[in-house]
Amino acid sequence: MKYAEVGLNLPIDKTFHYRIPCNMAGEIEVGKRVWVPFSRRRMIGYVVGVTDNAPVFRVRDIEKVIDDSPILSDDLMRFTKWISDYYCASWGSALASAIPSPLKSGKTSMKERMPKREEEYAPTSHLKPTVEQAKAIKEIKNFIEKSKFKVFLLHGITSSGKTEVYLQCISSVVEKGRSAIVLIPEISLTPQAVERFKSRFGENVAVIHSQITGGRRFKEWKNIKDGVSKIVIGARSALFSPVKDLGLIVVDEEHETSYKQEDTPRYHAREAAIERARIAGCPLILGSATPSLESYYKAEKGEYKLLKLTKRIDNRPLPRAAIIDMKPEIAKGRYASIISTYLRRRIEETVSGDKQIMLFLNRRGFSTYINCKNCGHTLKCKKCDSVLVYHSSKKELVCHYCNRREGIPKICPECESSYLNFSGKGTEKIESEIHRIFPTANIDRMDTDATRRKGSHDAILKKVKEGKTNILVGTQMIAKGHDFPQVTLVGVISADVNLNIPDFRSSERTFNLLTQVGGRAGRGKDAGEVVIQTYTPAHYAIKAAAKHDYEAFYRHEIGLRKDLNFPPFANIIKITLKSTTEAIAKDAASGLAKYVRKKLKKNIDIVGPAPGVIAKIRNRYIWNILIKTKDVLKTCGKLKSALADYGRIKRTSVGIDVDPIL
Ligand code: ADP
Ligand code: ZN
Ligand code: ZN
Repeated sequence: MKYAEVGLNLPIDKTFHYRIPCNMAGEIEVGKRVWVPFSRRRMIGYVVGVTDNAPVFRVRDIEKVIDDSPILSDDLMRFTKWISDYYCASWGSALASAIPSPLKSGKTSMKERMPKREEEYAPTSHLKPTVEQAKAIKEIKNFIEKSKFKVFLLHGITSSGKTEVYLQCISSVVEKGRSAIVLIPEISLTPQAVERFKSRFGENVAVIHSQITGGRRFKEWKNIKDGVSKIVIGARSALFSPVKDLGLIVVDEEHETSYKQEDTPRYHAREAAIERARIAGCPLILGSATPSLESYYKAEKGEYKLLKLTKRIDNRPLPRAAIIDMKPEIAKGRYASIISTYLRRRIEETVSGDKQIMLFLNRRGFSTYINCKNCGHTLKCKKCDSVLVYHSSKKELVCHYCNRREGIPKICPECESSYLNFSGKGTEKIESEIHRIFPTANIDRMDTDATRRKGSHDAILKKVKEGKTNILVGTQMIAKGHDFPQVTLVGVISADVNLNIPDFRSSERTFNLLTQVGGRAGRGKDAGEVVIQTYTPAHYAIKAAAKHDYEAFYRHEIGLRKDLNFPPFANIIKITLKSTTEAIAKDAASGLAKYVRKKLKKNIDIVGPAPGVIAKIRNRYIWNILIKTKDVLKTCGKLKSALADYGRIKRTSVGIDVDPIL
């Protein structure tokens, strides 16, 4: 008797065994989908193995084999298994990530193919690469030729020609009839970015991101699987593409925190990409102007090969930077707390010089908190432990954690006084204040609220490109990737927003954002300037960003990480407990922490339990336990069996997040 080991997309971290009926014996193969009974329903399963005996007593039969041939390659089987082991997720959930949604519901038709438009395209390339580019390309191509695994960290300042390095390396992969995967953070997956790849490689390019769903996604998947599309460009999930003969992976903006998936399997696309390249035996390029501490540390140790691009193309200068201390500005009057005298003057000069401006603030909404002048009460969300933000367009209060909306109360819910005070500033307020100060300028805004409607994102960028917008106000959406040569001034309204978040990566994120947003200035032939407003002008992240000095930032930051045993010196595994009752969540967390401490004693540092930074979200109280380890796979293994022994906890859910973004 033979049994099939099957992965199911369930939050249960194990595989399941089913008997193979005699008439299906020849049909069962690893990588095929099957229909199986589970509890009282039918589910799609993925065959991961065939065995002679089953470890369980009562075994049910496979109902039906769906595929004629395996839809998951050996590489993808190994890759998803690694995701499952490393991120403490079920293999079934990792396998499901590799399948386009129509196939997850059992659809069988594999005949469709997207009709290929025979498009004309002009392969433009700079064949005169710069000396630094040529050196980087040569090193990487060497590993492409050898089909050998190697991680390259391409550290190049903004506009130094990193993308051109990717394009030329991909070119040599495609010439050999092999494939490449290019990951770009979702936020920079603009038509502009994709266009550069399409204009170089034409119809060879498949694009995958969250806006592309259903049938379209399935067709892209099919084209990739059949080897029609040799280059896959997309956000995180493109990493699971069924490419034929993978020859190169590129992870652009490798420091981006959006590479971490928030739902199970909670993988980090950068780290997972390294594993996929290792399995395929191909080189991988991590590119960034501000590499993550994790990657740069590994490059320093020699684990990755560091390649540097230190000059902008055409030797264009990096933008000048001015740090403005906002403390003395307050005394100057009502606008000054938002726009300093200096920034205001520079905006005037830039507008009259017919150049463009970007104003950056990483917080949306109008007023960011409302409190009572009488009793001091701050308006909070009823379901979350978070303050409500006032949005002026719809005149409503919004919770940024659960998206609950409500009207504006006339009186304080605590003391019934009518002295409600609106304070704090978001992008909407900046936009309206700028309108007041510069009534004749054309001002636009780009943030999650302004881009909710389909197409609005592109429409806003188009207006900037055509020069119709003088001043663009926005959140981190405006920080990334855009290449507008007429933008010569970038203003950072408050560099402190991210610094004030209690997270060990807050300095790193501030440095990254300031560098990225500053990189938007002076990309054309006119020199640029970035004006950084802050209450902490002496902070090392701000000073280093103003000097474009990554090394200085890295040296300071790596010392702090070492002292605190934070990444890259240890990996973090976060256990999160949630319950609708505060006391239950707290007790469950301390009980579990005690147990885990006992079970995982060696070489492991356990912190907590402690309430979440936002202690309640959607009516559920949150407690966390942090484990710091130098060997994730080993600790995850032990942790899984410890949790299985501990059993279910009453009225509490338990989640594990490996390498979390805190
Ligand atoms: P990055 O990805 O580092 O921001 P890009 O690759 O976008 O830099 O290059 C910046 C600009 O310089 C782009 O417009 C690109 O087409 C151009 N460029 C890149 N390499 C060269 C080169 N060797 N010669 C001339 N122009 C180049
Ligand atoms: Zn009050
Ligand atoms: Zn809420």
